Amino acid sequence: MDNIRQFNVSALRVDIDTEFPSEQAVEIDSIISKWLGILPSWLKELRITQAGSSEGDTVLTVVVRYRYRRAVIYVRPEWHQWGACDRERYIIHELVHIATDELVSFSENTLGKLLSDDDPAHKALMEVHAEKVEAMTEDLKYAFMRIGRSDADDR
Ligand SMILES: [Zn+2]
Repeated sequence: MDNIRQFNVSALRVDIDTEFPSEQAVEIDSIISKWLGILPSWLKELRITQAGSSEGDTVLTVVVRYRYRRAVIYVRPEWHQWGACDRERYIIHELVHIATDELVSFSENTLGKLLSDDDPAHKALMEVHAEKVEAMTEDLKYAFMRIGRSDADDR
């Protein structure tokens, strides 16, 4: 038994890039820790990294690799210019995207297989799909925030 090394295989490893100013890293760590329960159990690695300035109104983005059980959240410099509440909400939104990604990716891929890229129906359906995904993500984000708030009220 002594020669067996044990690993906590169910643990999630969260890496916050060292490029973040320390107060931002502490805040990101605090928000992620608070909302860990949103994340799916299949996720084993979550990396938070900096990205260049945004084009448009996207402050954070996430890339999920379900196959490899990992996700990367990209934080644009604009994130820190928002108020504390909004900064937290932006991160919760991305955590919800991670939780729903497997189904969202499946439906996107299925649409891509059923309709060719040059089919106008494909573009129209992808736009509707993207809008529905964002709306669902926001609804779940607010639901988690309400639950989180009522949990805090119970203490
Ligand atoms: Zn989104």
